[in-house]
Amino acid sequence: MSILKVLRQIVQDVSTAPDLNAVLSITVGRVRKAMQTQVCSVFLHSQETGRYVLRATHGLNAEAVGQVSLSPDEGIVGLVAKRAEPINLEDAFSHPAFHYIDVTGEERYHAFLGVPIMHQRKVLGVLVVQQHEKRRFDESEEAFLVTLSAQLAGIIAHAHATGAMQTEATSGGPGRLRQDLRYDGVAAAAGVVIGEIVVASLPADLNSVVDRPAEDPQQEKARLERALVAVREEISQVADNLAGRLSKDERALFDVYLRMLDDNGLPLEIRAMIDQGRWAQGALREVILEHVRAFSAMDDPYLSERATDIKDLGKRLLQHLQEETANHPLEYPENAVLLADELTPAMLGIVPEGKLSGLISVAGSGNSHAAILARSMGIPTVMGVVDLPYRRLNGARVIVDGYSGRVYINPSAELVQSFSRIVIDEQVVADELREIRDLPAITKDGYRLPLWVNTGLSADVARSLKQGAEGIGLYRTEIPFMIRDSFPSEQEQIESYRAQLEAFAPRPVTMRTLDIGGDKALPYFPIEEENPSLGWRGIRVTLDHPEIFMVQVRAMLRASEGLNNLRIMLPMVTSTSEVEEALRQIDRACTELQEEGYQVKKPPVGVMIEVPAAVYQTRRFARLVDFISVGSNDLTQYLLAVDRNNPRVAGLYASYHPAVLKALDFIVHEAHKERKQVSICGEIAADPGGALLLMAMGYDVLSVNANNLPKIKFAIRNVSFSRARQLLLSVRALHDAEEIHQELRQSLKAFGLARLTRPAIPDQKIPPI
Ligand code: PEP
Ligand code: MG
Repeated sequence: MSILKVLRQIVQDVSTAPDLNAVLSITVGRVRKAMQTQVCSVFLHSQETGRYVLRATHGLNAEAVGQVSLSPDEGIVGLVAKRAEPINLEDAFSHPAFHYIDVTGEERYHAFLGVPIMHQRKVLGVLVVQQHEKRRFDESEEAFLVTLSAQLAGIIAHAHATGAMQTEATSGGPGRLRQDLRYDGVAAAAGVVIGEIVVASLPADLNSVVDRPAEDPQQEKARLERALVAVREEISQVADNLAGRLSKDERALFDVYLRMLDDNGLPLEIRAMIDQGRWAQGALREVILEHVRAFSAMDDPYLSERATDIKDLGKRLLQHLQEETANHPLEYPENAVLLADELTPAMLGIVPEGKLSGLISVAGSGNSHAAILARSMGIPTVMGVVDLPYRRLNGARVIVDGYSGRVYINPSAELVQSFSRIVIDEQVVADELREIRDLPAITKDGYRLPLWVNTGLSADVARSLKQGAEGIGLYRTEIPFMIRDSFPSEQEQIESYRAQLEAFAPRPVTMRTLDIGGDKALPYFPIEEENPSLGWRGIRVTLDHPEIFMVQVRAMLRASEGLNNLRIMLPMVTSTSEVEEALRQIDRACTELQEEGYQVKKPPVGVMIEVPAAVYQTRRFARLVDFISVGSNDLTQYLLAVDRNNPRVAGLYASYHPAVLKALDFIVHEAHKERKQVSICGEIAADPGGALLLMAMGYDVLSVNANNLPKIKFAIRNVSFSRARQLLLSVRALHDAEEIHQELRQSLKAFGLARLTRPAIPDQKIPPI
């Protein structure tokens, strides 16, 4: 087998192991075999003692596991950890740092190679191989171990986090959780909630099936039986339908399927799992995935292909089990915190309104679209909690801290009490903000700044009006497209657009043409790309599909008949030719409608500045259109080359990076040279510090999420324009995003606006998992 294949195989075996002990034992076994050494061991860092504990070995004495540990100042293992570098020795005994530990039995081994296991810049542990004879491991062996360790680090970290969750091993249900388990993610929507987790499972996705104990094993087995009968029938039906078109060999495959489903096949194992206390779906997941693992690992291509068949059977069974569950809708707890592997905008509707009080997502980051919607709904949210073992947490108590991006599972009474204080303080601030709802955003020295709102969900309209919005600066039209199963017709679109335009008339409503691609997928128009942020997005898609664009523009124009408060905005433009082409189509739609007898007027049309290339062409664009609006969420991602959805680089997504602020400053000046209105609808405008800077730069309108609007208004009403200008001047002199952040925080305090900044989070000494 090639090195690459060996590597892949080991990583695959390890990644599907059920727990940390299995991960480590598979690792040492496979590495020892692949490198043909006598010993392979793993030492892991212990948070409690700060030492590196021998957690698994093949070759050293098994009794030493869990007993032997080294400080970073002890032994060669300690040195590997301290230096965070590989150490490769012909004879470990002659090294000055060598530290002999009796019980390991390592006196027989001379050659030593140790590599650190690094995860997010931290040394998680050390992976060691040893051999009898005195010889240096050669370069390819060293490279192999370093590569493998780098790939295993994430899996080990994840398994470690999962394993640390439980106080005792249990089979079946979620088991007994330790108290105050802290998991770190990305702060995505401010606020604190204390609630109960509801895990969102994707339909027919075995991997997302949650763990749940079987309340009544007999009933679970009966459900399984019904699903089996249905799937057997389906398969026989398909086999009959295809009988004439399949060869004898191909037909035999259906018999194999049916045999797998007969009473001595998979069902036997699934029933045994139910008897151990799992519900039917959970038992099915375990059995199917175990078989898939075993078959995929086989060298014989025919047999390894069978993994796909088993997975397919598993999915079919799951579908039937889920349909049954769907007929008995779940009871949602009062303070439901929805937890998903990857939270999407469409999932926000899973929990009924009024019960949804918090959101957690394993994938995604602070500017993913689900996070943006969560902010507009005012629901505390943490994204990118990559180590959270979500399947085991259905029904667990949780604190979501949307300020610092932390999640506490099974919180203690003291922790709940300290966070309850924040919840009460938040309520007091909200009441105070409600009082200024109908007042204008006007500074202490009389400068008036219009505050508009971003919408997308239908509930946003009422919410925005309640918060005193003076217009809509961005209606994300793709959001209603996302929660359907086909493109809406012209008439359907007219109805939903008319509702927004009417509710806000005569105030302006800026409708953005469809902005799909990136992290916004339509289930009925899939776009599969390696690099979706740089791919077919926004205006690029709609210009390639004039039929979709024209229907949408016609619907917008017809919806505004008699109201005339519509503005159309084009997303993701890069070149003037795109703007010209879109303008031509909008003109054509207008003329056609007028010819058809509709009383429509050509609305103001604007472009979004979201791409660095657009920044440098602001003035040219401004000559072509009526207004400019900055999409700072995308602009930040493209200027900093940081994917807005990737939690791994969330720390680098710096809204206050000097380069971002410089671009924002430049855009406003360039657009004003052409006397065009410039607004901003990215999330930076919804942060009180950011809003003051943007006002000082000269932005004509800030468009923010409905939830943050009162906070922004409060900030503007309590500062003079001249102080905001001074703040901008001092920020311009700073070179670092973090310094700028600090400066903004301190200035808000100095302006008497401390209550708009993040509250002091209780100083608990709880380390992250
Ligand atoms: C932006 O990119 O800043 C923006 C407002 O658009 P969206 O967040 O929908 O991409
Ligand atoms: Mg955008």
